[in-house]
Amino acid sequence: MTKTEFKAESKRLLDLMIHSIYTHKEIFLREIISNASDATDKRYYNAMQRGETGLNRNELSIDVTIDKENRTLTVTDHGCGMTEEDLHNNLGTIAKSGSLDFKLHQEKNEDIDIIGQFGVGFYSAFMVSKQVKVITRSENAEQGYIWESDGADGYTVTPCEKDTIGTEIIMTLKDNTADDNYDEFLDTYHIHSLIKKYSDYIHYPIHLPMESTRIQENSNPENPDYETIMEIQRVNSMTPLWKKMPAQITEDEYTRFYQEKYLDFEDPLLTIHSNTEGSATYTAMMFVPQRAPYDFYTKDFEKGLSLYASGVLIMDKCADLLPDHFAFVRGLVDSQDLSLNISREMLQHDRQLKLISSSLEKKIKSELLKLLKNDREKYEKLFESFGLQLKAGCHNDYGTHKEMLQDLLLFYSSTEKKMVTLAEYMDRMKEDQKEIYYACGRTVEQINLLPQMELFQEKGYEVLYLTHEIDEFAIKVMRDYKEKPYKSIADGSIDLENAEDKEAAAKKAEEHKDLLDFCVNALNGSVKEIKLSTRLKSHPVCISADGPLSLEMERVLQSMPNGHTMPKLDRILEINANHPVFQTLCDLYTADTEKAADLANVLYNQALLIEGLNIEDPVAYANAVCRLVTR
Ligand code: ADP
Repeated sequence: MTKTEFKAESKRLLDLMIHSIYTHKEIFLREIISNASDATDKRYYNAMQRGETGLNRNELSIDVTIDKENRTLTVTDHGCGMTEEDLHNNLGTIAKSGSLDFKLHQEKNEDIDIIGQFGVGFYSAFMVSKQVKVITRSENAEQGYIWESDGADGYTVTPCEKDTIGTEIIMTLKDNTADDNYDEFLDTYHIHSLIKKYSDYIHYPIHLPMESTRIQENSNPENPDYETIMEIQRVNSMTPLWKKMPAQITEDEYTRFYQEKYLDFEDPLLTIHSNTEGSATYTAMMFVPQRAPYDFYTKDFEKGLSLYASGVLIMDKCADLLPDHFAFVRGLVDSQDLSLNISREMLQHDRQLKLISSSLEKKIKSELLKLLKNDREKYEKLFESFGLQLKAGCHNDYGTHKEMLQDLLLFYSSTEKKMVTLAEYMDRMKEDQKEIYYACGRTVEQINLLPQMELFQEKGYEVLYLTHEIDEFAIKVMRDYKEKPYKSIADGSIDLENAEDKEAAAKKAEEHKDLLDFCVNALNGSVKEIKLSTRLKSHPVCISADGPLSLEMERVLQSMPNGHTMPKLDRILEINANHPVFQTLCDLYTADTEKAADLANVLYNQALLIEGLNIEDPVAYANAVCRLVTR
């Protein structure tokens, strides 16, 4: 019999599993039972699709048995089973996409996340087993197969006789070690408690033979003899949690359900459970995780809610139920309005489904607003994890979702020194303030130091800080909030200066027209215009773009594929005429025009640096500085 090797990645993971320092080894049972339940769902669903009604859910039990002598724990299901090819595909490799990045997880204390993040359910059996045997027959085949592995380096697949459809997972438990007790998984009561704890809502009966005591037949009723017999008991309560009334469910039950279903080790940040009646009748149980899943912001991430029709799973991840901006919500929807044997293709066009999804979107928004109002700290945490998704939502589809999302946004405020909503900003706006001011940069600290901030700080205007690349794009698409337009502090048209200052600046500009023209020439096309500024206080210079796009946006666009083909924005350099360096510039202009040109160059590059941009020609800049400081 030839052994097939595990794919390299799987091997690494198996190794981690087998030598796992993961403390909750017991979750292997939950994983195996949940696979059995999924396979049974699949078989049931397929039968419904074919119009077969002969299957009875109660007969599709999941049977757990213990054989102490042989040290085996067996989980048997009547699900869809696997063909020989399925065995290779499903149990021979872990991540078919090959996207596992184990480098991230080499540190031992990060092992835990592997189970949660990659859903490596089946392999968890190797945390407790020295050998695993899978005997299976697919619903589409007559032939059965045995898959067998000791987890070390490979597995074998051999044909076998199997009368019934379904799968049997036989786990031979490891021997006890000084640190680890594996015998407990041969203890009926322990297994009973694990099933109860982790798999209570599985909607097929989970059977376990249990010892029970009864009066022996023919024994004297006055003084009865008792005998112990093995009796098959159903362990799980089977009622799906979402079918209970919210008032009857404890926080702990929600948490357990969430953790089991979504393999998270943390509590959900927000739980939403609603029974809705009306144009769409459904029950939804949804959760927002504390943290974004590792692949959340990649194209591999699949959004969606599980869709049930009257308690039967129709689709595991129905993407149409969730708009992209709420892709971080996990959960399920159960509706009696949907037909059981609806096909996936038809589902997309289903009117009922559309009604449900638009009602869900509103529900999620109102729950998020409620959290924002009632538990600010939690909301800020949520925003930290998923704010980017909400902002992307504002930007996507040409701002169509603005009304839905704008009140969920938070921005750092220059005056409050914390995250604020747009409504809060609006409430604090000065009477004469016509615009919502924002500033772009990579960090709060960097924006604090922007020359343009000085005037706003001096005049006491609140400025929202946009520190993520997407922010300004979103703001531009949204245009305004409750009719107050957004305006960048870098925008030259902002009119905060008083008339006297402006008049003085205009006069000075006229006076120094020759010098300014000379500097524009000296910068060799790098700037379109040089102005004498009235808004700069202690800084000598600042730079901005002419027109609606900002230099920050230019930077982001240029970093994108094909970004280099984007035409450069026209730049305007502002010089603070009250700064001593301006006097130096004037002096040099009369005494030594070469040095004046050098200084113009240095000032221009300084403005770029302060703005967080790269200087164009570092060597020329360094040479200019050297020439200036050399007497
Ligand atoms: P996941 O369940 O997250 O896909 P697993 O490693 O637990 O990952 O299982 C891999 C695959 O093996 C499953 O997706 C399923 O196709 C198949 N599988 C596992 N257990 C069973 C079972 N009892 N019956 C049928 N197929 C199964």
